[in-house]
Amino acid sequence: MTALLEKSLIKSHPLSDIADKVVSGKRLSADDAIRLYQSDDLATLGALGEYARRAKAGPGRESYVYYIHNMHLNPTNFCAETCRFCSYANPDERSRAYRWSVDKVLTEAHRGAKLGISEIHMVGGLHPSCDLNYYEEVLRRVKTELPHIHMKALTAVEIDYLSRLSKLSFEETLIRLKEAGLDSMPGGGAEIFDDGVRARMKVKKTPASVWLEIHGLAHKVGLKTNATMLTGIGESPEHKVDHMLRLRQQQDLTGGFMCFIPLKCYYEGTDIKDEVTEPSESDLLKDVAISRVLLDNFPHIKAYWIQLGQELAQLALSFGADDLDGTIMEEKITHAAGAKTPLQMAKDQMERLIAEAGYQPVERDTVYNVVRVSSLTPAVVPPLAERSFAAVRP
Ligand code: SF4
Repeated sequence: MTALLEKSLIKSHPLSDIADKVVSGKRLSADDAIRLYQSDDLATLGALGEYARRAKAGPGRESYVYYIHNMHLNPTNFCAETCRFCSYANPDERSRAYRWSVDKVLTEAHRGAKLGISEIHMVGGLHPSCDLNYYEEVLRRVKTELPHIHMKALTAVEIDYLSRLSKLSFEETLIRLKEAGLDSMPGGGAEIFDDGVRARMKVKKTPASVWLEIHGLAHKVGLKTNATMLTGIGESPEHKVDHMLRLRQQQDLTGGFMCFIPLKCYYEGTDIKDEVTEPSESDLLKDVAISRVLLDNFPHIKAYWIQLGQELAQLALSFGADDLDGTIMEEKITHAAGAKTPLQMAKDQMERLIAEAGYQPVERDTVYNVVRVSSLTPAVVPPLAERSFAAVRP
């Protein structure tokens, strides 16, 4: 890695001034980030991301890559909104809409608990009968029957909806849910903050300012949260940089984001494929590397294997990601939109993927406490500069 960074620091290199900033811990500007997006020097982008990841990890943890043993629960796939990029808004999907009873959610939670999960990630569509009382009951019962399970649940979009249904403020809604057992919030629903992209995609829900306000309030009441960015919906590099900088600003103010997760749109069941550009694998790796160097106040960057697939997720670890997400029993949202990745991964398989990529697998809890350092030894892999990116779709 040092050799790579030295290469990127050669004064004649077009990114050497940005590399200097990364090495000296100086904050990158919007212009810096856009120049990184304009570069096709994947080896240098990866080296910068890797450098920033190691610096952020702290002594003794430079090679740590985290995963969690968790399950996803989606209590309903009905949504009152009509975002064009989402298969939940598709009439066919609506005709197959389901809404789980509280008992059904608990049955699923117990199934996960028997397999030893430590976290339930619970998100869903906006269903008028899945109101604040419904989620309070779900949370209370999980916490009563399975007190050791961490409930990471309800995106800012769902909090916004529940608060409108119950006519309570965002803060009151968050406090009620926290008292019922909510432990943290996922980062979904951020999409791309730019108003123009959102208008074209008919995103009427939760504008950027409200999404950020709800996360800020969650941090204020003691809930840690994550943040996402959805690509492949007609955004430009400038929109992505703007999105990340708004997150960085919010983190400066309230400090409760744990992890940033770049996501890509899947198009099955949507009508947008012909009017947007699908991100290439090279674009996805750039999102990982650039988010790592730009979001200097985010502790972790996730390579979401369920979307990237296992090989690209492994490569993303060399671009600055330090988290592969979870074992994820039966993910539904990305698969409803056409993802062909597996629905779940066993712990030993997750650890093997991380070790094969040259990193130390570490099982974590939701808030990144170390649960167990794997006994697997990281493989020795060649540095990025010596690897071919021929297999990466440009
Ligand atoms: S993206 Fe979210 S709010 Fe929009 S239709 Fe899908 S589930 Fe509903």
